[in-house]
Amino acid sequence: MCCDMAKRADDGRRALVRRMVFLLDKQFGGADWDRTRKRPDPLDDLVRTILSQNTTDENRDRGFEALRDALPDWELVLDARLDRIKRLIRPAGLVNAKGPAIKNFLRWLKQERTVLDLNYLKDLSADEGIEILTQHRGVGLKTAYIVLSFACDHDLCAVDTHVHRILRRTGVIDDRCTRDRAHNELRPLIPKGKARSFHADMIDLGKQICFARSPNCDACPLFEVCPYPVETP
Ligand code: SF4
Repeated sequence: MCCDMAKRADDGRRALVRRMVFLLDKQFGGADWDRTRKRPDPLDDLVRTILSQNTTDENRDRGFEALRDALPDWELVLDARLDRIKRLIRPAGLVNAKGPAIKNFLRWLKQERTVLDLNYLKDLSADEGIEILTQHRGVGLKTAYIVLSFACDHDLCAVDTHVHRILRRTGVIDDRCTRDRAHNELRPLIPKGKARSFHADMIDLGKQICFARSPNCDACPLFEVCPYPVETP
């Protein structure tokens, strides 16, 4: 593709995302929610997001609460035997991956910062935060984006399974675009300051209307901009 064509394609995608931000916010109110929401602690948020991989929100919360009830301080988690951590987080599943990911991250943080506290990420750029977090096994781009956006107030939109599905159906990204690549493609297309609320609104859309099977397109605020209902009669 020549430079002019590529630029026109990007301009079109940028306009599409801007319209999606507007339409979704009108329906789901993510911007208002973002202004008033409670900010989680970054380290709590990181562990909770590691636990959320491949499970439901309910099982993630059960695993997180069991861990925190038994070991209410991250220093205690760091000192605990790996077997005990795995037993406590069992409700969240995949304990052989998630247990070591949590323990290894805490060990690294202690060595690096001496205190188990990730609040310093708020003072770094989003890109520096992404680089620091994603160097750890079990911490991918989605996890890094969630922690940096919701706990550290960086302007990022994490691409989870709902966001990925909607981006593909609406044509913001093509069908072959992986979730990791989607993070990078989407980032420059979102109007400044809107990434967190866009993420929240997209999750609401994915859970309530744009289901993986049989999306309810007739009730969708994106119906006017989405080619999927026409392409998939
Ligand atoms: S129109 Fe249908 S496919 Fe497109 S975003 Fe809405 S629910 Fe999903």
